[in-house]
Amino acid sequence: MKLSPKIILLGPPGSGKGTQAKRISEFCKSPHISTGEILRKAVSGTDKTARRIKFYMNKGKLVPDEIIFSIIRKHLKKTDAKKGFVLDGFPRNVQQSEVLKKILGDVDLIVFNLKVGTDTIIRRLSGRRVCKVCGSNYHMEFQPPKFDEKCDRCKLKLYQRDDDKQVAIKNRLKVYEMESKPLVRYYQKKGFLISTNGERSEEKIFSTIKKYLK
Ligand code: AMP
Repeated sequence: MKLSPKIILLGPPGSGKGTQAKRISEFCKSPHISTGEILRKAVSGTDKTARRIKFYMNKGKLVPDEIIFSIIRKHLKKTDAKKGFVLDGFPRNVQQSEVLKKILGDVDLIVFNLKVGTDTIIRRLSGRRVCKVCGSNYHMEFQPPKFDEKCDRCKLKLYQRDDDKQVAIKNRLKVYEMESKPLVRYYQKKGFLISTNGERSEEKIFSTIKKYLK
C-alpha cells in the first residue's frame, strides 16, 4: 500500500486553502476532503439537516460539531484515510482536532498554515463569483469572466455565495479569530506546523508546499 502524507490546511476564509488542497491532492494522489464543499452539496436537500446546515452557513457561523463529525467519520472511512489525505476546512476548532486525533490515533501530520491579512481576505471573498452549473470560480477583479457576470463555459449568470456577502464575511472572520486561530498554536506545539505567506501567487505558495511533500 503506497502511503501519502496526512495533510491539514489551516488559514482564514479566502486564504486559498481549497486551491492549494486541490493541487496537493493531485500531486500526492490522495483524496481532498473539503468539509465546506461537502456541506454546500448537502444544503441542496430539503430535509431538516439540510435546512439546519444552511442556517449556519449562510450566517458565516460554524455548523454544529455533531453534523461535522458524522460527515468527517464517513469520509475518512470511505477514502481509506490510512493511505493519506488532504483535509481542507477541518478541523475548525480545537475540539474538532481532538476528535480527529481519536479517529486517526497517534500519527504524524503536516499542517500548512496560510497566512493572509484581513484586507486581502475581504477583497478576495467579496469579489468571488461561482457558476452554479459547472462550479467554476471567478473573481470580478483578479479573474473576471469574459462577458458581464456570466460563466465563460455555461454562459449563465454567476452567483455570489451567501456567505461571501458582507455581513457573513465579518462573521466568518470573527469565527476564525475566536475558534480556528487557536489551532495554529495547537499544531505548533505538536511540531506539525508549517506557516507560509498566503498572499503570494498560487504557484509560489505551491512551490513552497511541494518542498515538504517529498
Ligand atoms: P469553507 O468553504 O471551508 O470556507 O466553509 C464554508 C462554511 O461551511 C463555513 O463558513 C462553515 O459554516 C461551514 N464549515 C466548513 N467546515 C466546517 C467545520 N469543520 N466545522 C463547522 N463548520 C464548517
